Amino acid sequence: MNTVFQNQKTFFNSNQTKSVEFRKQQLRKLKKILKENEPLLFDAIYLDFKKAKFETYTTELSLLYSEIETALSKLNSWSKKKRVSTNLANFPAKSYIIPEPLGTVLIIGAWNYPYQLAIAPAIAALTAGNTVILKPSEIAAHSSAIMAKIINEAFDATVFYVQEGAVEETTTLLELPFDKIFFTGSTQVGKIVYQAAAKNITPVTLELGGKSPTFICKDANLKMAAKRMVWAKFLNAGQTCIAPDYVLVEETVKDAFLKEVIREIEKMDYCIANENYVQIINDKNFERLEKLIDPSKIYFGGKTDKPERIIYPTILHNCTFDDLVMQEEIFGPILPIISYSNLDEAIGKVKGREKPLSCYVFTSSSEIQNKIENELSFGGGAINDAVMHISNDKMPFGGVGASGMGNYHGKFGFDTFSHFKSILNKPTWLEFDFKYAPYTDWKQKIIKMLLG
Ligand code: NAD
Repeated sequence: MNTVFQNQKTFFNSNQTKSVEFRKQQLRKLKKILKENEPLLFDAIYLDFKKAKFETYTTELSLLYSEIETALSKLNSWSKKKRVSTNLANFPAKSYIIPEPLGTVLIIGAWNYPYQLAIAPAIAALTAGNTVILKPSEIAAHSSAIMAKIINEAFDATVFYVQEGAVEETTTLLELPFDKIFFTGSTQVGKIVYQAAAKNITPVTLELGGKSPTFICKDANLKMAAKRMVWAKFLNAGQTCIAPDYVLVEETVKDAFLKEVIREIEKMDYCIANENYVQIINDKNFERLEKLIDPSKIYFGGKTDKPERIIYPTILHNCTFDDLVMQEEIFGPILPIISYSNLDEAIGKVKGREKPLSCYVFTSSSEIQNKIENELSFGGGAINDAVMHISNDKMPFGGVGASGMGNYHGKFGFDTFSHFKSILNKPTWLEFDFKYAPYTDWKQKIIKMLLG
């Protein structure tokens, strides 16, 4: 690992990644190998947790292709130095900002969308002209192996290298003085990464998790709310960082909303055999999730299949913030429903917890929409929808507080992996003497007149 790291540093210092054409070549190559190896990528993720081709394409590969296309079309303008006006104190001069790559970066991925969460940050890092060591999650073992195979075969290890491994390997990598660490995973491991980075004053982006609330208000289009919310919650069997974690529903519409929710779940026909559903990633998570299902609160579902690691969509009702299921991020297909009679109190409860990665509100009232936008702090979210905000690369994707720091996607990813260097460029044909000693009253008067 140290050798790859040192070689990447040396290569970076050769300035070859500063060339926009070089960066474009890397992006085109990446797109080509992803396209050519789609069947292998589909198979590997299916072996990990029976994720269907349809979902692998829509929630992983298509987003990567779109990130690459955006980067290729915008790279020229993103990487240009930008002129800005010069302040009076520096007259006459030119002022400009140069985006420069940070250097050699480490990207650590999570298992739930193994391709998207590992390769999208790598696209941003390569676009910005960095060299990349990528450490995918060992938990999606087949997906990790196929990424290592196709990337390490196609790329020079001095530019882009996949290092597979678990805690031990990651710990070793974290000791190296990277120029940036981009981590996706749990808040708990995020703290370990942050501490390790601090030793080398390495900047970090932390894409973490949390409990994302969904408000269902009495004036919501309940049918549409149920349709969109059910899709967002049970996609990938709830193993989505921005999935609605729990629902806060206005008491008077609770029964009507739940009826629609059940109708939608039944319509979606969640089943592994027809590839509409996925497994829980491993036994450890399966057992953790089973414990969160309180039999006395099951409104719908609760059915599990241990040998197959399947937990069918489960709705828990009459829940409170004190329930076990409300003490940790669920990250699975269990949805607690908490009813409220006073929206301000419900907002207050969310405010009293860690800042979530996402928040969703279903309502037709613009007053309530504004209230949620203004009063709650969260990474990002949607009004009358859920999860889909991640797909718009014109918006930054990232958390706040315990759900993370920094963001990426589109131009925001380029910025995350760049340093913006400010240059004041002064000619030598003119110099005012005001700032130089000996300090006199008349110099001070002129400075005050000019600068206020
Ligand atoms: P995790 O934190 O267990 O693992 C993430 C990565 O860290 C893996 O590559 C793993 O090998 C490494 N790791 C694990 N323990 C480590 C340790 N002690 N020292 C160093 N490295 C270690 O997370 P996960 O189980 O892969 O993913 C689930 C979590 O990630 C959830 O909380 C979810 O919300 C969050 N997540 C966030 C986003 C986002 O974009 N914000 C996306 C997906 C998942």
